[in-house]
Amino acid sequence: MNREPSILIIGAGFAGLGMALELQRHGLSNFTILEKAADLGGVWRENTYPGAACDVPSPLYSWSFEPKSDWPRRFSHQADIHGYMRDVAEKHRLPEKIEFGVEVTEAEFDERNGIWRVRTADGNTHLADILIPAVGQLSRPAMPNLPGIDSFTGAAFHSAEWDHSVDLTGKRVACIGTGASAIQYIPAIQPQVRHLTLFQRSAAWVLPKFDTEYTALHHTLFERLPVTRLAERFAIWSFFEVLALALTDIPAMKAPVIAIADRHRLKQVPDAALRAKLTPDYAAGCKRGLFSNEYFPALAQPNVHVETTAIEAVTPTGIRTADGVEHPVDVIVYGTGFKGTEFLAPMHIYGLGGRKLTDQWTPEGARAYLGMSVPEFPNLFMMYGPNTNVGSGSIIYMLESQARYIRQVAQYLSGKSGRYLSARAEAEQSWDDWLQKRLKDTPWNFCSSWYRNASGRITNNWPGATVLFRWKTRSFDPSDYEEQRADRR
Ligand code: NAP
Repeated sequence: MNREPSILIIGAGFAGLGMALELQRHGLSNFTILEKAADLGGVWRENTYPGAACDVPSPLYSWSFEPKSDWPRRFSHQADIHGYMRDVAEKHRLPEKIEFGVEVTEAEFDERNGIWRVRTADGNTHLADILIPAVGQLSRPAMPNLPGIDSFTGAAFHSAEWDHSVDLTGKRVACIGTGASAIQYIPAIQPQVRHLTLFQRSAAWVLPKFDTEYTALHHTLFERLPVTRLAERFAIWSFFEVLALALTDIPAMKAPVIAIADRHRLKQVPDAALRAKLTPDYAAGCKRGLFSNEYFPALAQPNVHVETTAIEAVTPTGIRTADGVEHPVDVIVYGTGFKGTEFLAPMHIYGLGGRKLTDQWTPEGARAYLGMSVPEFPNLFMMYGPNTNVGSGSIIYMLESQARYIRQVAQYLSGKSGRYLSARAEAEQSWDDWLQKRLKDTPWNFCSSWYRNASGRITNNWPGATVLFRWKTRSFDPSDYEEQRADRR
């Protein structure tokens, strides 16, 4: 029998679409994407906050096999990235392979038949030989556990669920959080609001952003002389690889980066008291380093106050800090991040013998061979799984590495109906030992962030340059897996 395996991909963001494109490019078409929303795009559909953009330049933050010569600027805005995803998907007729409005709630491996039974919120069941969750790490907003949070009578929303019906003009706005999202929407809303109070628990490490608008000349050059486009992509990729090495293999390289960040702060924040507040007190690189030319100048405006006293409670009319001061506000914006360490939640996944994936990962946290495959969970391959997030670089490059690997698995399983592969426990253990050894000396150990879970394990980040991940995942080796045959097929 020469049957292609049937494949279910969960999620139509960069990971799921990229996986589908990789399969299609290699002649594999027996796949369906289940997408809970009504549109594709993942985080680029969801995050529409003012100023939403990507802090990785588009020549790199795009599929290598679908270059775009006419990005409006180097660091693209959300609408342009979402538009790019739609254009590429439509060009390859992917929307007809996507079932929209279908939310996966549970997936169970039926070992007698060697097949995944995937249940969805509408009560349906889908079957597949291979299951590829591609649900991202940053799709579930995290709200802070603050006393009185529900008592606030004004408008309040999370940055990833921006309420565009709320007009911020002339309002007093509280912004909680100083991450990659906040650094983009604070400068965008500051000129509009009456007063902005930034509640800062940790100051961000901020680097200058080497942004530029691309002119018609750029577009023509990139189109007619693709080598110029490739040269820019290569330069950007190399820059981020150097930063990744500074975070992992060559810490000495952090010194010039810190010097650039310090100089940027000094130049942009003339007021010494404000500058002191905005100076991080934790190791550079521990939380995600940010790029912005607008954040510090916005915080220096007269209608902005940076509050560093901890929040004690949310009240019906504002926020009370630990010093007893009431900060009356009309709107609260929670830029408080995502439940990044809860991989695949809220789906329930059951593998061999009915074993539940979350039980397998308790109490330590998520782990997977090559970030993709978990022993006893056969023919399940995750995109953007544990330890595949980048401290520096383009996640799309990482996702392409995963898609290539999983496509090789699908090719291997072609014509082997009813066969299933589970990562060998020894292979997964030695992979994890290697990861933990590398993670031990990274700056991610020295503060709290969404890269680490409650047990202290760094579950999200890849400890190295992205090219190292590409190398590690370059070819699928069946000897890393136990291969079994279902009784009934
Ligand atoms: P984040 O980086 O997790 O930042 C959350 C912020 O909320 C932190 O400053 C955190 O403070 C603060 N916070 C959380 N709970 C709090 C509380 N109870 N009281 C006070 N402050 C609280 O979230 P994010 O900014 O949404 O970014 C998440 C990730 O999304 C980024 O790291 C990045 O990977 C991705 N992202 C990417 C882009 C892009 O341009 N590519 C843009 C946006 C987001 P502490 O630091 O003290 O915990």
